[in-house]
Amino acid sequence: MSMNRQGRPTSPKTIAETPGSGTFSGDHGLEHEEPLIFEIGDIAKSGVDLPDAAPHSARLAGLERRDEIGLPGLSEPETIRHYVRMSRNNYAIDTGIYPLGSCTMKHNPRLGEAVARIPGMADIHPLQPQRTVQGALEVMHELSHWLLELTGMSAIALSPKAGAHGELAGLLAIRAAHEARGEARSVVLVPDSAHGTNPASATLAGLQVKPVAANEDGTVSVGAVRAALAPDVAGIMLTNPNTCGLFERDIVAIAAAVHEAGAYFYCDGANLNAIMGKVRPGDLGVDAMHLNLHKTFSTPHGGGGPGSGPVVFSDALAPFAPLPFLQKDGGGLRLVEQSDDPISSRAQGRIAAFHGQMGMFVRALSFMMSHGAAGLRQAAEDAVLNANYVRAGLSQALTQSFAPTAGTRPCMHEVLFDDRFLKDTGVTTLDFSKAMIDEGFHPMTMYFPLVVHGALLVEPTESESKASLDKLVAAMRALADAARRGDRERFASAPRFAPTRRLDETRAAREPRLVWKPASPGGA
Ligand SMILES: *Cc1c(COP(=O)(O)O)cnc(C)c1O
Repeated sequence: MSMNRQGRPTSPKTIAETPGSGTFSGDHGLEHEEPLIFEIGDIAKSGVDLPDAAPHSARLAGLERRDEIGLPGLSEPETIRHYVRMSRNNYAIDTGIYPLGSCTMKHNPRLGEAVARIPGMADIHPLQPQRTVQGALEVMHELSHWLLELTGMSAIALSPKAGAHGELAGLLAIRAAHEARGEARSVVLVPDSAHGTNPASATLAGLQVKPVAANEDGTVSVGAVRAALAPDVAGIMLTNPNTCGLFERDIVAIAAAVHEAGAYFYCDGANLNAIMGKVRPGDLGVDAMHLNLHKTFSTPHGGGGPGSGPVVFSDALAPFAPLPFLQKDGGGLRLVEQSDDPISSRAQGRIAAFHGQMGMFVRALSFMMSHGAAGLRQAAEDAVLNANYVRAGLSQALTQSFAPTAGTRPCMHEVLFDDRFLKDTGVTTLDFSKAMIDEGFHPMTMYFPLVVHGALLVEPTESESKASLDKLVAAMRALADAARRGDRERFASAPRFAPTRRLDETRAAREPRLVWKPASPGGA
């Protein structure tokens, strides 16, 4: 197998490696093999002329850099080509469907992008006097209003920078509420099907995780929750719809049981896309919940950012929300950044520097206002319809989890399959996913949730047309047929057509190479 200069296996391009199948140049069609910028750049070759620095007195007390900074220099056209070539190796929601389960990846309307770039939104600074940014505060105020209406909750903290960060803020509020009552409660119930961030946030908040097993049908029963409740339980973290794509039918009874035991109900709201405009979590008994603006309300995201995870709170937890909060008075809108209120958290103080992700607030509000209330409801309905269209289209080819044998069961915004359909084929969920890349699709979420074997979790979102879903379904059906026919080579060698071939993920995890070293003059 050929390797690129960074030592990663690539699709066969060179004649020498695979006679007859490669090229003389090492490039492939109009795609170029792109080295790292440090390998092609040279500080001596900078694309700009800078005057020599004027004499100045160093104020770094001897800590200033002595040697070359070593940044790569490229001319403008070389720089542009480098980044454009790199970007062509990327897969994006603008190139095709991104059917990741759990992490809603929907179209990002260009309207939101245009509004976020308005200078009055994009060029303001968080330390500007508040009277000079009343428009921005109005956006935050209006956004808060929509989010509170949609969720039926009483208070909101906009500042958390991601879903997981919101979870932490919510759990710290729960902890502060118990502490204010003088109760030492340190356990959080988390169902087996939960997103990995749930137990991680609980741990970070200084709480212990106690797992709750799911039912045969993939949901959590009130009986299982009752059995796990105890005087040291601070709260429960539940996702609804859950990560199996199922609506938790017992949720009202679960909330009642949790409250009766003196605990709070944290709802992971990352899956709000399925229910916005249909169900208000506040009506279900939720006490705190984060909303992933970057998922439900669009924003280009992925690869670790950016995110925005505002948290909504019930009356009971509102006083323990983090600072800052918005207040409207005679002088207009004001961000309250300090509080003398002794009970309130004001106990937890701030959860983030500054006030949150302004660019994403603007995009989210633009998404909401351009859809309108009825439009948001329809987006949720279409997201659920699309997932069920995929479910029905794959019902004969794949095996849906928690469905009757040889049958299917309606789902919410995402549909969960397991690897029973691959039994005795020698093909794994990973192989199947890699083969999807060869067919032009970003794979769905795989091996999550952990409650089923070899999970394949598909969330098409409302953005996809019927034509696009038909193509996805046809490709997945054809692959399932190929697996059953015993065409193992197609899977074992996949992806064959991607710029980078299958990586040794175990080795990458065990022996990560985190530092780039320049090639020695003599060779590799
Ligand atoms: C995405 C997601 C999270 C975490 O959100 P981040 O913004 O990635 O931190 C938590 N729970 C569920 C169910 C999710 O899908």
